[in-house]
Amino acid sequence: MIEIALSRLHFPVTTLGPGKRIGIWLQGCSIRCPGCISADTWAAGRHTTTIGEVMGALQKWLRIADGITVSGGEPFDQSLALVTLLKAIRGEFSGDIFVYSGYPFEKLHSELSAADGLIDALMTDPFVAGMAQSLPLRGSDNQRLHLLTSLGADRFAPFTVPSSYAPKFDVMFDEDGSVWFAGVPSQNAFRQIAASLDLEGHRVSTSEDKGPSSKGVAP
Ligand code: SF4
Repeated sequence: MIEIALSRLHFPVTTLGPGKRIGIWLQGCSIRCPGCISADTWAAGRHTTTIGEVMGALQKWLRIADGITVSGGEPFDQSLALVTLLKAIRGEFSGDIFVYSGYPFEKLHSELSAADGLIDALMTDPFVAGMAQSLPLRGSDNQRLHLLTSLGADRFAPFTVPSSYAPKFDVMFDEDGSVWFAGVPSQNAFRQIAASLDLEGHRVSTSEDKGPSSKGVAP
């Protein structure tokens, strides 16, 4: 049985690709870009479950979702689990599959061979804080969008050019009252939110997780 470390599942997500999407955030990232907004997903080996459990949880959304976005964390740090999950999804889902990775495309050759036909659109390369951010779905303009299938080309072509893009994110509330975000905000959005709340007398803390990664890379 193949295990997978999962941070979160959510539907609908409207800011990580076209339409109403299922968001799958995997747990664990050895890349650890300075300024990453998903630092709570860095620590590896936590929140492990099985592919079967994940597929069971997705069932109620697979009929109504337009697409699925897999992010993290770094999905390819769990390459075998990722490919196994994508195969299972592909067998039951006709929408598009979009995956984020912080690795350069050129370093994913063997992983992408194993995932041939399973990923319609792939965003690669690490987030670089301070770099221009003019393109959709990217935290920084060095990140490259690869359209790997005809479905990916159909759905994601509008995201290859700046057009009228403005960074945006969904805001969600968990049952315990914590707030979390999905999407790609502008690089200073969270600082502005924190400053606004501070002016109102609120204290803001984040769930940054600097626990050890499976590859031992320091944050
Ligand atoms: S690869 Fe993604 S999740 Fe990992 S640190 Fe960079 S932006 Fe964050």
